[in-house]
Amino acid sequence: MVIDHRLIDFFKKHKLYNKEMFKYFEEHSTMIDPNYEDERMLTGCAYSIDRYTGILKDIHITLPYIIDESTLLDSVHELTHAIFSYYKIGKRFEKDITIETLPLLYERLYIMDNPSQKLEAYGKHLDSLIDETDPEYYFAINARETLLKSYNYNPTQMIKIVSQMGKKYYFNEWKNKHKRR
Ligand SMILES: [Zn+2]
Repeated sequence: MVIDHRLIDFFKKHKLYNKEMFKYFEEHSTMIDPNYEDERMLTGCAYSIDRYTGILKDIHITLPYIIDESTLLDSVHELTHAIFSYYKIGKRFEKDITIETLPLLYERLYIMDNPSQKLEAYGKHLDSLIDETDPEYYFAINARETLLKSYNYNPTQMIKIVSQMGKKYYFNEWKNKHKRR
């Protein structure tokens, strides 16, 4: 893994950097050439989950070499997935409605920390791709506004708030299903 110092500085600033964890990422990652669209599509964070126990065994990240603002922001997104999943290795892991919330939050924080027209434009472009047909992204884009209001550089607190929002979402879903007609 080739990791840009701007990303390291960003994650340090937001208290998400841990040397051991990034060493793990180095050993569990692939770099791709973002100049080729079919390679670029491979960008992502993959979870290896034991099919019998549901326990997360490993994470593998595929990141683009940094060539511009879009590759920076895509890397913030995937690394955020990896960072928050890293602590779940060895534990039961389920993808739920909140899975895209923190990556979208930290994407936005990266733009706020490094204001530039190109970054803002790419951020807007990403947001414009989201609609109700992507439940996880749709949930995330709404939750992000709430999280930004109470953002205080405390990842543990962010996790707590996000998980509460997720529970509320599932409770409302359940309530709607069981509504008396
Ligand atoms: Zn994502």
